[in-house]
Amino acid sequence: MPPSYSTDIVLFGGGVAGLWLLNRLAAAGYRTILLEREALGGVQSIHAQGIIHGGLKYALHGAFSGASRAIAGMPARWRECIAGSGEIDLSACKLSSPHCYLWSGDGPGGGMKAFFGSKVVAGGAEVAAEAEIPGFLQGRGLVYRLPDFVVDTHSLIRALAQGHAGRIFTLGSDGTEDTLTFERAGGHRELQVQGAEGPLRIRARRYLFCAGEGNQALSEQAGLATPRCQLRPLKMVSAAGAALPETFLHVLGAGLSATPRLTITSHRDANDTPVWYLGGELAEAGVERTNARQLEVARTMLAELLPDVAMDELEWRCLDINRAEPASPGGRRPDNASLCSEQDVIVAWPVKLALAPVLADQVMNRLREDGIEPGDAGGSSVDDPGLLASVFPGSPAFARPFWS
Ligand SMILES: Cc1cc2nc3c(=O)[nH]c(=O)nc-3n(C[C@H](O)[C@H](O)[C@H](O)COP(=O)(O)OP(=O)(O)OC[C@H]3O[C@@H](n4cnc5c(N)ncnc54)[C@H](O)[C@@H]3O)c2cc1C
Repeated sequence: MPPSYSTDIVLFGGGVAGLWLLNRLAAAGYRTILLEREALGGVQSIHAQGIIHGGLKYALHGAFSGASRAIAGMPARWRECIAGSGEIDLSACKLSSPHCYLWSGDGPGGGMKAFFGSKVVAGGAEVAAEAEIPGFLQGRGLVYRLPDFVVDTHSLIRALAQGHAGRIFTLGSDGTEDTLTFERAGGHRELQVQGAEGPLRIRARRYLFCAGEGNQALSEQAGLATPRCQLRPLKMVSAAGAALPETFLHVLGAGLSATPRLTITSHRDANDTPVWYLGGELAEAGVERTNARQLEVARTMLAELLPDVAMDELEWRCLDINRAEPASPGGRRPDNASLCSEQDVIVAWPVKLALAPVLADQVMNRLREDGIEPGDAGGSSVDDPGLLASVFPGSPAFARPFWS
């Protein structure tokens, strides 16, 4: 019989969802280990634009939607964590910008823009003072300062992983399929992990899948009857150049769409060169285009919208990436973080970086409802953390964004 290790929770996936939960679970006293297949921050989290939305963007539809209500409290909750006084300590997370701005454009459509302006201000935004507006937008119509702010995703992931070295393990680059299997006995599962020195059995009271796009394969491996995943693809664009000014800006799209025509956030590459990361409608519509065509569309859009920004000698790149979410009717954007559970497995989706705290609340509530309290791993098995080191090849590295 191979040796066994018992714990309360085994978490899969070291993006913002898994790492936020690791912090909450550990603080509540649950014995938890986190298994990451590749690198911490993995796929979506490190490539998020980092905007901690306050829901205003969604409120622009007219009535406050489910999405805007769910997200309204997030900036305050995150700010407390970043100040070191919240539910988890994010004092090591850097703010890229204390605000995000929204520009309605300087083209025609005065009536619609006036209506839009009243909604924006009712939602807590203010008209930005001329002095805080980047030079290239001055004199070009109203710019609003939103309650949203922007975090640096790389430092966010590091802050979330801080202090958990003994709890985070890498599965190795060959993924789970070769090294790890779920065995079922009644309603319970057990993990069999194949290490260099032999197998290890891991028993947990709950297996928590926070693996983004990987949730589908994990659900199938665990034999769940109801894996429900949808992927909404994006073709993001980055442009790097020494002269790019720091900018965190949504450009209003046609009508009052919740998706801006363009969202620009500023970052730095490995050589400390400024990078503009471009999302919004450009990235949604871009999935139908080749990379070359997408870059051409992005260049033309920027030149038309922001003619005063020098675009010479920029280094352009595209990134194809999926937003991984629970399946929604008609493939719609889900309104809120959500989870589904089956026996001893919980599959969890934050849907947005900003909603990771809501997802953590949902998981904690589910554990309580299921009678899973901290501190009773419930087994007579050997409990030796050294066993984990014998099967997992160390700690995962931190992911870098594609422009680095
Ligand atoms: C381009 C883009 C921009 C975005 N911008 C914003 C934004 O500005 N604001 C906002 O609020 N939200 C934004 N989002 C949404 C946000 O990024 C995601 O909702 C969030 O990061 C999802 O986090 P996650 O931890 O669930 O997934 P991920 O970050 O994808 O992490 C999943 C992790 O699981 C690992 N994994 C996969 N399979 C396995 C396995 N079998 N075993 C173990 N580990 C596994 C992966 O390697 C990865 O590290 C954006 C999304 C995209 C794609």
